[in-house]
Amino acid sequence: MHLNTPNQRVRSRGVERIVQGQPTSDGAGVKLTRVLTQPLQKRLDPFLMLDAFGSDAAADYIGGFPDHPHRGFETVTIMLAGRMKHRDSVGNVGLLEPGSVQWMTAGRGIIHSEMPEQEQGRMAGFQLWVNLAAKDKMQAPAYRDVAPGDVPAFVLDNGVRVRVIAGASQGVAGAVSRPSTEPLCLDISLPPGTGFDAQIPVGHNAFIYCHGGGTVHVGDVAGSAVESDRMAILANDAGADGVRLSAPASQSGLSRVLLVAGRPLNEPIAQYGPFVMNNQRELEQALADYQRGVLAT
Ligand code: MN
Repeated sequence: MHLNTPNQRVRSRGVERIVQGQPTSDGAGVKLTRVLTQPLQKRLDPFLMLDAFGSDAAADYIGGFPDHPHRGFETVTIMLAGRMKHRDSVGNVGLLEPGSVQWMTAGRGIIHSEMPEQEQGRMAGFQLWVNLAAKDKMQAPAYRDVAPGDVPAFVLDNGVRVRVIAGASQGVAGAVSRPSTEPLCLDISLPPGTGFDAQIPVGHNAFIYCHGGGTVHVGDVAGSAVESDRMAILANDAGADGVRLSAPASQSGLSRVLLVAGRPLNEPIAQYGPFVMNNQRELEQALADYQRGVLAT
């Protein structure tokens, strides 16, 4: 879809802090970069984790993520390159392919696997964890695959392309909307010398992750530069109603940005691996349920 309405200008938030991810591995030896780590969970409430993965070497991803449980939150998988097969205890089977998005609500419990459907070539994407409110943590699990062509997208006159994964932008409703956390998740591509203004409600926590080799500036081009493979936590400036992203004119390729924002839950966060609850007693219950084989029943 092409959007002819002018991009509505905002008073931009600034950068509070630049974060470099930590190389790690998860699942059966999948190499990834953990960008949003546990110490940032309170600051970026309701977001619990962001992993970036990207490799041309099969050895870095071929082990995949065999059967493992989750309880108490949602996982969002955004594929940029490569194919992964999802299977879960509810009976869902889905193929994650380039450009697709998977939104899984673990709720009271799900066991799933995410395994590569390729033996060579590039595999790249993100996994974002979004917390559930205490009242929603024990809801029934749910799962949704969004095919590449079903992710709402628009292109501005200046060539900026925006895929609206969650929330809404410039009047375009995204693929997913969630009531308690109101997540906004935009996959943005900016040609050199262009800019894009995104509205973000005051009080929502927000960050961007720049990837794909380009640099982006927060505010005008004189604003803070965020290099590729870095997260910038956006300040909760009381007078700002969004963020302006600007791509330097001197750059040859696109600036690629994942913009994520949401309404904080302001509830206690207790995490033990794949379980995220509000207190220790609930974590022990999750572990006990998993060990007794009733987490996902
Ligand atoms: Mn998982």
